[in-house]
Amino acid sequence: MALRTFIINLNLQMAEKNGYNQDNYNDTVTNRLSGRHFITRIPSTASKQNPRRVCKVCADKIKYISGKRGRKETSFYCKQCDTPLCIEDCFEKYHTINNYWL
Ligand SMILES: [Zn+2]
Ligand SMILES: [Zn+2]
Repeated sequence: MALRTFIINLNLQMAEKNGYNQDNYNDTVTNRLSGRHFITRIPSTASKQNPRRVCKVCADKIKYISGKRGRKETSFYCKQCDTPLCIEDCFEKYHTINNYWL
């Protein structure tokens, strides 16, 4: 099974279990750390076959350390947060650590 298909299937299964309407988006930080989040490939468009966006964790970390804008690009994002994130470390960090840039 392709990784992409697997992730989409996983998303659908979990969404069914949790129920689409039960999420509470009042507190974004709490939701970021306690909600259910799934890494998803950024959907391609007619003009871009392999769209990439700057990872928020890497960008904030680079900004915190050097004061410069980070440019680490990723093909994946969190659909719930609409936030681009690296599939490996950054996705987990963003959703488990309050100060993920430290
Ligand atoms: Zn990253
Ligand atoms: Zn998320």
